[in-house]
Amino acid sequence: MAFVWFPMETEHCNPSKDKFMIPGNLKSYVCIHVFEGTRPVLLISRQGGSWSFVCGAEHEDNASNYRVVGIGHVLEDDPSLRSQLDLQPDWDAERKDLESPWIRTRSDAMDA
Ligand SMILES: [Zn+2]
Repeated sequence: MAFVWFPMETEHCNPSKDKFMIPGNLKSYVCIHVFEGTRPVLLISRQGGSWSFVCGAEHEDNASNYRVVGIGHVLEDDPSLRSQLDLQPDWDAERKDLESPWIRTRSDAMDA
């Protein structure tokens, strides 16, 4: 699947250290569908250590398909996502639909 990954802009933030105590203003990436509320979050990705919440559909590799939002907004819109806040960097959590359980997989390493 085609994905665009943004360069890490957060220099001093290490969310994995705090697990469930993630500040609500922590930057996360959402696809335009999640941003506009037209599709639920079905894929959480922590590639590169950042948080991405996307609908799981294909997106063009184009920054206009993504938005940066505070993670608190994402969790407010879908509190079920809170169960995945212990997701470690470079892991993905995916579900088929809102009723399905989350399935975690280690994501392929980015080219170092
Ligand atoms: Zn989407």
